[in-house]
Amino acid sequence: MKVSNETRHDWTKEEIEKIYHQPLLDLVYHASKTHREWHNAREVQVCTLLSVKTGGCPEDCSYCGQAARYHTDIKVEALLPTATVLAHAKKAKEAGSSRFCMAAAWREVRNNRDFDRIIEMVKGVNELGLEVCCTLGMLTEEQAIRLQEAGLHAYNHNLDTSEAYYDEIISTRKFDNRINTIQNVRKAGITVCSGGIIGLGETHQDRISMLLTLATMPKHPESVPVNALARVKGTPLENNPKVDIWDMVRMIATARIVMPSSVVRLSAGRIEMTEVEQAWCFMAGANSIFTGERETLLVTPNPGVTEDMQMFENLGLLPMVKQETAQTCTH
Ligand code: SF4
Repeated sequence: MKVSNETRHDWTKEEIEKIYHQPLLDLVYHASKTHREWHNAREVQVCTLLSVKTGGCPEDCSYCGQAARYHTDIKVEALLPTATVLAHAKKAKEAGSSRFCMAAAWREVRNNRDFDRIIEMVKGVNELGLEVCCTLGMLTEEQAIRLQEAGLHAYNHNLDTSEAYYDEIISTRKFDNRINTIQNVRKAGITVCSGGIIGLGETHQDRISMLLTLATMPKHPESVPVNALARVKGTPLENNPKVDIWDMVRMIATARIVMPSSVVRLSAGRIEMTEVEQAWCFMAGANSIFTGERETLLVTPNPGVTEDMQMFENLGLLPMVKQETAQTCTH
């Protein structure tokens, strides 16, 4: 199959279906080729994710242990002090991260003192020379502008799943709310980090449909996280089957082909993958990972930084430096 080398925004469902359903090794080969045409395949961006406000969220995302309504083991924590967050960011930089992402379990940003403190944190992390990313829930255009002025580089807001399957997973907001926030982020000139989760019980069609939404945006998200469901005890999806590694590879490879300039991030679920399985994901075009301190990713287990650096050495990979990250983004 001939795959275009141009960034396209007019993909059809049929085209993406055809790519997604190729024999796996053909798909990985094409994705790997695309990856090498657009990126330095030896480099992988290392992003550190810190939960700056944990749990107690009023939303009902059925995959999330931070939703107040589920009985999980996650401890609710108020917004961390700015100095604590900056100390974490400094440590992340020293450990090789080029991007620092701060996550708050909020439904939406409110114009209150907590938001003023987030603005302070964004300024502080930016001054450390790290790319700053936030994920804070829904955002108005005015709030996005404030974050941009404080130096925010990227805003994470995942589509989660397809529009058709959305109501099965979350009832407290609509798919369109996600799109609106992404548009507000774009209008403010902040880069977009948006992907989704597989393993929620969705069909292959839902996965293709989610990729279609992302790949037909007027501008592709600069970062596309592909998450495997982390099954959190106490959530409605705790007993879902483990995501098959080949489904993960297929999803990453298709994302790589349809959004060739984006950084495709192998996100949640790495803890359940072997190094060999992660190597397949890198081969399929993943060029970013999340690390979390204390071997957690937000509130779920994640490999530690030392383990990741050993994996990089074994696979001949290098942590991407900030300037090179900027070159691979399309902003
Ligand atoms: S995913 Fe985010 S919005 Fe949904 S319950 Fe968890 S913290 Fe709240």
